[in-house]
Amino acid sequence: MRRVLILGGTAEARALAAELSGGSSGGSSGGGVHVVSSLAGRVSNPRLPVGEVREGGFGGADGLAAWLAAERIDALVDATHPFAARMTASAAEASARTGVPLLVLRRPGWREGPGDAWQRVPSLPAAAARLSEAATRPGDGPARALLPEVAAQPSGGPARSFLPGTAVRRGGGPVRVFLTTGRRSLPVFTGLAGVWLLARSVDPPEPPLPDHVHVLLDRGPYTVEGERALIREHRLDVLVTKDSGGPMTTAKLVAARELGLPVIMVDRPPLPAGVRLAETAAEAAAWARG
Ligand code: NAP
Repeated sequence: MRRVLILGGTAEARALAAELSGGSSGGSSGGGVHVVSSLAGRVSNPRLPVGEVREGGFGGADGLAAWLAAERIDALVDATHPFAARMTASAAEASARTGVPLLVLRRPGWREGPGDAWQRVPSLPAAAARLSEAATRPGDGPARALLPEVAAQPSGGPARSFLPGTAVRRGGGPVRVFLTTGRRSLPVFTGLAGVWLLARSVDPPEPPLPDHVHVLLDRGPYTVEGERALIREHRLDVLVTKDSGGPMTTAKLVAARELGLPVIMVDRPPLPAGVRLAETAAEAAAWARG
């Protein structure tokens, strides 16, 4: 029977495991395919895919290559999160070394639409630098500095019709940041002066945390109403997010658009050269079946 390893930790990986296992309640084998899903083992209570699951790192590309050979894997699907760049690099290297074909399953990234005020940055440190710049810039107030093109408009325009308590109406004080880039990214932001952080994550970040960091433990999916209420309650000025893509966490982007909140969008790390790409679980399943 054909043996497929799915590198998971995402909704797409779970959908693929279900599809290859012959339905969402199926076991680990279906349609002539035996599926093993792999999780990093970082989250305390992970959403599990159907079928066989292994947990924990492989020990880099060498470890993964050895595992693929030992388990007689015929096809490898990297369905990890778009920001899990180390795992993806290991998968590409192990595939090249062993000859086990690799497909990368990646949901499309988000696209800016009318009414959005996004600024794309190439990395988390670049996002922190942008916040720092805004927090220390004299003039109209720190939050306003994040929206230069909007602030320049004499009147009207979607982001000018601000509701009370959001960015353009604020004057001085710290930039109040809605940070949804994950708990492990927190150290990139905690040292910034003039910034207050509402950091939302699935699991608690490592203590100690400074006073200007407020942690909110939640895992979604989220609603636009809930995100809107959160932005208002905490008087947030700016949203910082990674371009994860997918429907599970778009509510914050809709709420930000409605409230005229600027968004600092961290771009995805590039994929290894030459990898084969699929955007849906169905596409990946057709490939994995061979
Ligand atoms: P990463 O930085 O690329 O990976 C770090 C190390 O963790 C890898 O080198 C590998 O260890 C191990 N690892 C990662 N994914 C694994 C998997 N599916 N199975 C076995 N080992 C895995 O990844 P990350 O950003 O820490 O993400 C870890 C996991 O969380 C991924 O599975 C990803 O899909 C999921 N996730 C990540 C994010 C995010 O924002 N980064 C968001 C949601 C879910 P070895 O080198 O020892 O093999």
